[in-house]
Amino acid sequence: MKILVLNCGSSSLKYQLIDMSNENVLAKGLCERIGIDGSNMKHSPAGKDDYKVETPMPSHKDAVKLVLDALVDGSHGVIANIGEINACGHRVVHGGEDFAQSVVICDKVKKALETCSQLAPLHNPANIIGIEACEAQLPNVPQIAVFDTSFHQTMPEKAYLYALPYEYYEKHKIRKYGFHGTSHRYVSQEAAKLLGKPIESLKLVSCHLGNGASVCAIDGGKSVDTSMGLTPLEGLAMGTRCGDLDPAVLTFIMDKEGLSAQAVVDVFNKKSGVLGVSGVSSDFRDVESAAAGGNARAQAALDLYYYRVAKYVGEYAAAMNGVDAIIFTAGLGENSKDARAKICGYLSYLGVEVDSAKNDVRGKAADFSADGAKVRALTIPTNEELVIARDTKELLDK
Ligand code: AMP
Repeated sequence: MKILVLNCGSSSLKYQLIDMSNENVLAKGLCERIGIDGSNMKHSPAGKDDYKVETPMPSHKDAVKLVLDALVDGSHGVIANIGEINACGHRVVHGGEDFAQSVVICDKVKKALETCSQLAPLHNPANIIGIEACEAQLPNVPQIAVFDTSFHQTMPEKAYLYALPYEYYEKHKIRKYGFHGTSHRYVSQEAAKLLGKPIESLKLVSCHLGNGASVCAIDGGKSVDTSMGLTPLEGLAMGTRCGDLDPAVLTFIMDKEGLSAQAVVDVFNKKSGVLGVSGVSSDFRDVESAAAGGNARAQAALDLYYYRVAKYVGEYAAAMNGVDAIIFTAGLGENSKDARAKICGYLSYLGVEVDSAKNDVRGKAADFSADGAKVRALTIPTNEELVIARDTKELLDK
């Protein structure tokens, strides 16, 4: 069975074709600047040279057509014809309260996804466009939706309710949903394998530290709390997002800077976080090297970032009344030994102890705790595409 995994943004489309007989990636790639001048595609077939092309892609439908053509191409293709694609698995950011699991997409599901677009206006419309583009190009192929939010639907009411008038929850479904669910689910399962214990017996805190970042408390394999909220703005400081702050800051900035509410929310999303504090970049590599070169604001941004991750870990250890392991994943969590060491430095009271030699690792799963440490510290590369492909296969097998 071969599954095409798609992740559509407003002007981009990321894809992987995965052979589920061995879970090998046959090809992967990225279309960028869809609907904008300079549209281009990079296609990387396994065992062959990359193929790059700059060609107009007015819509996602054109991008999907280009991807399918690349997959069957005589020189850089990996399958003989598109009939070999058994299903498409789509990343969908927001499933609201309607979707606690992945689903086969039908008209009723699409209607529900449109309703969820109100909760994720930056993401869900692009996901829906991607789904419709695939339906048009592959009319008889099942389309499956896998949600960033579904893993967190196991959160108890005390974790997901905001302390707002209850009618806002009833009328508008304003509550914490959480994101990065496919990542937290995947790394928690891999952590259980690495520790050689059943996931049902483990209390885990998963730290997804990429450009977007969130922490998740996972008790017995189920998400019981997470740092992102109604939208992916809540929680940790991120590359460009501010994370938690006093809600009154909104009107204060509106007043002082003469900005509209939406303009301030744009600042919270796009000009804050590590970029906003450091003034250097949203990319941690740039900020780490600026800090190493003596840039005080870059150092302040990193210090604030590490401190907040550590606070969330402590909070979630309390929420679960214990923790067996802390997982670091995504760009920073997988690659930055300094970030892992600094965050773990706050957690010795819990029983976290780092072995510096073991922590000198990038991009592969490892337990980097000192021998005998009570709480294990793990780094585990995430693989959201594989989770999407596995869910898609499971639904098809049913
Ligand atoms: P992601 O969203 O998971 O792709 O992660 C992107 C983030 O990871 C960017 O801010 C990168 O700066 C960061 N990152 C990637 N590689 C490294 C590295 N070697 N050291 C520090 N940060 C890294």
